[in-house]
Amino acid sequence: MTAKQALKKWVKLFRLQNWTIEMEMHKVYEDEELAGNDGYVRMRVADLWALIVIDENSVEPVESIVLHECLHILLRDATVALNALFHTPDAENVFSCVNELLTRRLERAFEEVME
Ligand SMILES: [Zn+2]
Repeated sequence: MTAKQALKKWVKLFRLQNWTIEMEMHKVYEDEELAGNDGYVRMRVADLWALIVIDENSVEPVESIVLHECLHILLRDATVALNALFHTPDAENVFSCVNELLTRRLERAFEEVME
């Protein structure tokens, strides 16, 4: 499955069609944010825009990376109403930790049923 096919699949399953999601493949040595990561996502909730960046040389199956980043978008989408509460760096840190933990747990669960 290509990254594009995976994106189409998870956007549909998670009903994220209201988001504009772009995707780019980067090389680790050109993008320091990829150091220690197979990918990352930038999101702008104001206009529901996201950019998924994938390490083009990752050994991880590309669908898993796309699934992981789509889960981040899903969790962000489901918590837009909480935005007003995130005024402090502490609140943002707690939210991003919860988001990462939940994303990993859901990713593992989805991977098991995908096999
Ligand atoms: Zn993550």
